[in-house]
Amino acid sequence: MQLIFIEEQVKMNKATVVSGIRPTGYLHLGNYFGAVQNFLRMQEDYNCYFFIADIHSLTTHPTPENLQAGVKQVLAEYLACGIDPEKSTIFIQSDVPEVSELYTILNMNAYLGELERTTSFKDKARQQPENVNAGLLTYPVLMASDIIIHKAHYVPVGKDQEQNLEMARKFAKRFNRMYKSKVFPIPKPFTFDGADLIKVPGLDGSGKMGKSEGNAINLYDTEKEIRKKVMRAVTDSGPTEMNSEKPEAIQNLFTLMKIVSQPEVVADFDEAYNKCEIRYGDMKKQLAEDIVKFTAPIRERIVTILEDEAYLAKVAQMGAEKARESAAATLKEVKKVVGFRKFY
Ligand code: ATP
Ligand code: MG
Repeated sequence: MQLIFIEEQVKMNKATVVSGIRPTGYLHLGNYFGAVQNFLRMQEDYNCYFFIADIHSLTTHPTPENLQAGVKQVLAEYLACGIDPEKSTIFIQSDVPEVSELYTILNMNAYLGELERTTSFKDKARQQPENVNAGLLTYPVLMASDIIIHKAHYVPVGKDQEQNLEMARKFAKRFNRMYKSKVFPIPKPFTFDGADLIKVPGLDGSGKMGKSEGNAINLYDTEKEIRKKVMRAVTDSGPTEMNSEKPEAIQNLFTLMKIVSQPEVVADFDEAYNKCEIRYGDMKKQLAEDIVKFTAPIRERIVTILEDEAYLAKVAQMGAEKARESAAATLKEVKKVVGFRKFY
């Protein structure tokens, strides 16, 4: 039954796509516009694997209760956004132990220097100096394993993951070269029509919106929460010269507006800014309005899906089977190539 699934995909000659999200909090606008939005379009034409990266989230030491609640939440949120378990394989990372086995093997060819130089490692080491664990250091190796175990061709991710994806490409190439094999295709970052990878900013002045940044506007937030968060956004006392360059905090407000509002609305506020007539209060009200318009129906679906434990369990079970089948097939090849060959 499952074998038919993979054979079908191969027969249809669809390219493979893999991407995941850590269950470290609610999905936010950054996750949606940086990643999920592309998942929705890709699932129509590609052989897609979308997972919940629960092993990755252990680097920040969640309690078992929080971890499980986080996994269910992201699963419900994937479904509420429109990822279709009949079209895509939706699964939980820890349900596929083959990923950890490949990670162990890849770790032997990943070097301390290159791992220490990774921006995401340096950032996390700065953010949590009391917990600079080995999992943080080898995060890009586990991420590479997640991707290449399904022989992915494309990986839809946000700008923040660009460097980690570059590492995954490096590890895949290195493995192929070391073992004179072609086990792994080299995965590419993906956006539609060659657009740049997206970085959705936070509204706290600088940097990206992130679950661990404490600056996220979540798909699950209530209308009231969204209004409150947007109204609190960092601004300044306004431009004093016509057509002046926007400081980062203001640019971030515009960037977010460009994502959720109509182009005419953005153009109006842009004009007001250039004429030094901008009223940030009005701009924030409009922005909150447009965010709510976008998130409210998703939130409603999340609430409904979360209540249906049996459905969530069924989706996770189905995904685990499909993902394991694909991962086991690759791991078998890897073991053979590496020299884990049975003589007994
Ligand atoms: P954490 O803070 O726990 O790392 P996160 O908010 O960064 O959480 P991830 O689970 O690490 O979210 O990332 C999931 C996907 O969302 C990745 O593809 C990542 O590139 C994308 N993503 C996360 N934040 C943003 C953002 N601000 N803009 C665009 N894409 C983003
Ligand atoms: Mg992240």
